[in-house]
Amino acid sequence: MPARATQAEPKPASPEPEEQRPANGTVTALQQTIGNRAVGSLLRRRVLARDLQSKGRKGQLISGEKGAVYEIIRSDFSKPLKEWKHTVRGSDGKTTTIWGEDKGYAFSSATQIIEGAIADKRAIKTTVDSLPEGHVNKLAGFHAWLDKVEPQMSSVQFAYLAAGIMVNSRHAPAARKEALRLISAELGDKEVAMRMIKKPVIVVVVPRDKQMTELTEFASLKTSDSGAGPGKTFDGREWAHVRGVGNVTVGSNVYAAVTEENLLGGDPDPKVFAEKKDSTGAVVTPAGTAQGGYTVGYSTTTHEFAHVLHRNGLSEDDKKVIAKAYATRRTATSGSVSKLTKKWVDGPRVSPTAPKNWKDAGWTDAKWLKHLKGLSDAQRKPFECYSAQNDAEYFAQLSNAYLGTNLGNDPTTGKPRNNGREWIKANEPKEIVALLDRLYKHRTVNDITKGGKLTKGGKCANPPKPVPPPPAAPPPGGP
Ligand SMILES: [Zn+2]
Repeated sequence: MPARATQAEPKPASPEPEEQRPANGTVTALQQTIGNRAVGSLLRRRVLARDLQSKGRKGQLISGEKGAVYEIIRSDFSKPLKEWKHTVRGSDGKTTTIWGEDKGYAFSSATQIIEGAIADKRAIKTTVDSLPEGHVNKLAGFHAWLDKVEPQMSSVQFAYLAAGIMVNSRHAPAARKEALRLISAELGDKEVAMRMIKKPVIVVVVPRDKQMTELTEFASLKTSDSGAGPGKTFDGREWAHVRGVGNVTVGSNVYAAVTEENLLGGDPDPKVFAEKKDSTGAVVTPAGTAQGGYTVGYSTTTHEFAHVLHRNGLSEDDKKVIAKAYATRRTATSGSVSKLTKKWVDGPRVSPTAPKNWKDAGWTDAKWLKHLKGLSDAQRKPFECYSAQNDAEYFAQLSNAYLGTNLGNDPTTGKPRNNGREWIKANEPKEIVALLDRLYKHRTVNDITKGGKLTKGGKCANPPKPVPPPPAAPPPGGP
């Protein structure tokens, strides 16, 4: 390996994303004259013309030909060879060495690598997957750059980049690909995706062996009080034991938690639900009941992300469409016993059959339904399916059904949920179908039949445990 006669001192790299590129105006002018692809090649050649001799920097990206990407783990200057030696890690996780004089490699950045892929018509998914997560996450702050590249990408391409920017899987890296597959399917509307990136929305994958509140992003839940005491949800569950949350706002950041077990299947580690003490021995979190995963083909990931999209991605007009459709469905399923058992996306609004503990106390199905009909709207809610609870749950469950991730039974009614676009089209207002079509572009993430049955996919292999709690005890005095 030849050594250079003179060796420059290492100098700090200039900041992303404008490093080593002509001004935007020049690029635009060139693009108009000779086209995107030719400009991409020119830019890359200009980058490749620089050698790796002038500096070493840990964390810096190096790109090779044909889109290969490496991250520098360490750089050492070899005095005898008068040359930089970069120890790098490729996207396959393997470590290798690149010397300063090696041809075909150049310092690069995530922005340059993505622009190169657009210009050369290389797959954006492969490119995003090849980049270290931290470099993709940082792009959330490059608003001008995002505005520049968005029109050059298809909605599917931009959705994958947007998911890559928002998902942080540092605690469970094996789940990143599945998280991107599911979340990118919900980002088909570029305007919505852009609004969420810029918020910024950050989706953290909680590992199966950690409580959600152990992660810094969700630590604030340990002291937040929604009426049932600090650290508890509105209905009295310990936040530490909850697996997944939609909208946690810290400053202007919006955090969502999805779980490794829902993405990859299997159960959370039982230690997540064990008693936790602080250094003085005081109990910080009491022991909870160990929970299992969800039904095969039910995704808490797409459900929670739909909540974040509803709140942070949709326009006020879109939100009105959802609120109106929800109110319409409640009215259409109110008033008479036959209407109360009519279908929602999660099955009937209330179970047409009395629960076992009610039957044991002498209640017939007819008396159970008559009793529910006589309750006020608020009193009846605990007996209603999940999608009937409020317009946010209605939209999140419709999103799951559209994407094919709504398998299993409703926890309250015990009746099967509905799944698939066909069911939504046949049963929901056309304005809601149009909104979901615009957002999710006729894509599903599970392989389901026309009738909504799962044929392939759905990583959550374990049924929930414990089984959902039975409905409240019947009122005293009998039917
Ligand atoms: Zn929800």
